[in-house]
Amino acid sequence: MKCIRCGTDNPAGKNVCVKCGNFLYSPNPQNRHPLTAAQKSARRAARVKGATLGCLWTFLIVLGVFVFLGVIIFLLIQFVFPPDFIDFLAPATSSVFSTTT
Ligand SMILES: [Zn+2]
Repeated sequence: MKCIRCGTDNPAGKNVCVKCGNFLYSPNPQNRHPLTAAQKSARRAARVKGATLGCLWTFLIVLGVFVFLGVIIFLLIQFVFPPDFIDFLAPATSSVFSTTT
């Protein structure tokens, strides 16, 4: 696609001139080339794939944070807090945590 400002021949698919930075498309929506059905479906598939990957990574990160917090809390209860502190916090469930009596 030829730049209307500097005349550089830009590769197809570029929105901005590689030499002068001028916009290659017109801001008028009537002058834009509509995407073909294949391009539209490819773009939609890429978007769905990206969203799925994003959800997966978010899930993994949240899961990792929960596992990390669980390990920290377990270590705190097991090694840092004295057993009577757990009794003080939750008297009904203290038998679950306190193994040494
Ligand atoms: Zn240009």
